[in-house]
Amino acid sequence: MSKTHLGHTARKRFGQNFLHDEYVIGKIVAAIAPKNEQNLVEIGPGLGALTDPVCEEVDALTVIELDRDLAKRLRHHPFNGDKLTVIEQDAMTMDFGSLAKEMPVKGKKLRVFGNLPYNISTPLMFHLFDHAHCIEDMHFMLQKEVVNRLAAGPGSKNYGRLSVMAQYYCHVIPVLNVPPGAFKPPPKVDSAVVKLVPHQSPPVDVESVNTLERVCAQAFNQRRKTIRNSLKDCLSEDEIRELGLDPTCRAEVLSLNDFAKLANAVTAKESQQEQ
Ligand code: SAM
Repeated sequence: MSKTHLGHTARKRFGQNFLHDEYVIGKIVAAIAPKNEQNLVEIGPGLGALTDPVCEEVDALTVIELDRDLAKRLRHHPFNGDKLTVIEQDAMTMDFGSLAKEMPVKGKKLRVFGNLPYNISTPLMFHLFDHAHCIEDMHFMLQKEVVNRLAAGPGSKNYGRLSVMAQYYCHVIPVLNVPPGAFKPPPKVDSAVVKLVPHQSPPVDVESVNTLERVCAQAFNQRRKTIRNSLKDCLSEDEIRELGLDPTCRAEVLSLNDFAKLANAVTAKESQQEQ
């Protein structure tokens, strides 16, 4: 299978798999439903598979592209160049809060979308979650397995740290499954599109999001262990029971609300210990 598409040779280190299936592209653009008077931002526009049809609908689009050659191509795009603001940067280092203030439609949040480089998709989503307050919604193409994990609930084998944290920040809506053949070169895995809508206010009260992340990571790190064992260095069996939770259960059966209770108990205990 050729690695060259539209005269550009795909760079593996940048996670380049270019979409070429018109049906899939049409479905994604319809899901995004781009309109003028929205602050649209695309991550990893590449050769423009999504950029071009979105530009048919709107007058302005900001794109963030790390590959210097692709950024240059986009700046000199024959008919969309004037509509595009091209930011040649690693999206992982982008301050989306500052970007939101610089966007053309003042006072409106960002609508972010992209067919993400799979090698950085999870850390990039966590980076975006940190900026969730300035984001209206996100549409991302990801590995199907990652979408399954984002959307999973307690009891599912896909349920884990990513599910809990994503659902703390966002409403997660799977949109579409995409086979490898829709890309050039085809990736080795199935893909899927997901819509993430940041909550207006958090669905549960959490004193410290860092502690929530830490407790989730620790509880799921050895998912076969009971929480009495996996969390023993931060909460005793009795302390877990006082929260109304069963110390002999495993992380995979706990809801977001349960994790919030555990995290708040750890925060309270640690602040008492500091005094
Ligand atoms: N949107 C195009 C498409 O659908 O055909 C390209 C998608 S390709 C999977 C990922 C794109 O993200 C590439 O253009 C790649 O150069 C770019 N990219 C990779 N790492 C990036 C990063 N850290 N920040 C911004 N763009 C990145």
